[in-house]
Amino acid sequence: MSEQHGQNERQQPAVRKNASDSAPKTPVPAAVVPPAPGPKKKPRPTGLPVRSLAYPEPVERMIAEFASLPGIGPRAAERMALHILRAPPQAASELASAVMAMRQQIGHCAKCFNLAAKGTVTGVAVATGEGEAAVLCAVCSEPSRDDQQMLVVEQPRDVLALEQLKLYNGLYHVLLGRLSPLDGIGPESLTLGFMMDRLAAAATAGRPVREVILGLSPTLEGDATMLHIGEMLEPLGVHISRLSRGLPAGQALEYANKTALADALEGRRRV
Ligand SMILES: [Zn+2]
Repeated sequence: MSEQHGQNERQQPAVRKNASDSAPKTPVPAAVVPPAPGPKKKPRPTGLPVRSLAYPEPVERMIAEFASLPGIGPRAAERMALHILRAPPQAASELASAVMAMRQQIGHCAKCFNLAAKGTVTGVAVATGEGEAAVLCAVCSEPSRDDQQMLVVEQPRDVLALEQLKLYNGLYHVLLGRLSPLDGIGPESLTLGFMMDRLAAAATAGRPVREVILGLSPTLEGDATMLHIGEMLEPLGVHISRLSRGLPAGQALEYANKTALADALEGRRRV
């Protein structure tokens, strides 16, 4: 059983290499897909409970890997492992290669931190001046987007939920979390520094962002994060609005139904 697993999951800032030239100093989480916000962390299972006879070690290891995934209990993990064992070898290698391909081909957008696929039609490579090619997401590489509107969200999946509404044509900025002091997530763990750099660069380029829309989840932590961002943006004199209160309290944005989300976006109010 892997020793490192569990140490890495929730952690934590490593300086991003692909950033723009504007020398942002805020460290961001290095993981491609950041950990879900909130205090819940699934402890690494040590195998199935209450069993006198164990499977051979590789099977137990597979079960433990599956059981460490969100929403998968030990019984389901066991069924999945045994299913893979019964399936043709080709199916197992397809699964393994899909896992590796996803990790290798998906990164964060160099501008907004949405997920971006390298080497695809939407994953347009841009020079960073550091000898590495960064990638822009589907939204940032779409020239018809209104670059003077910026909607700030917690996670890439929120971008997906909002894009499905087809009501918003501006850009996004993904924080990769929200402030949660109890979990050790402070402002430096989010992409706030990059957001400020983007706003400054846009102003310098003569295309200042006119409106920043705060689209964080209506939770205590989301509210605290919005308050913090409001204070950061105040000196810039930018128009700040937030999604209206139609969203169910305490619920992540991605789970809001489309009508509620559309109402919240259209009925947004100035902060
Ligand atoms: Zn982007």
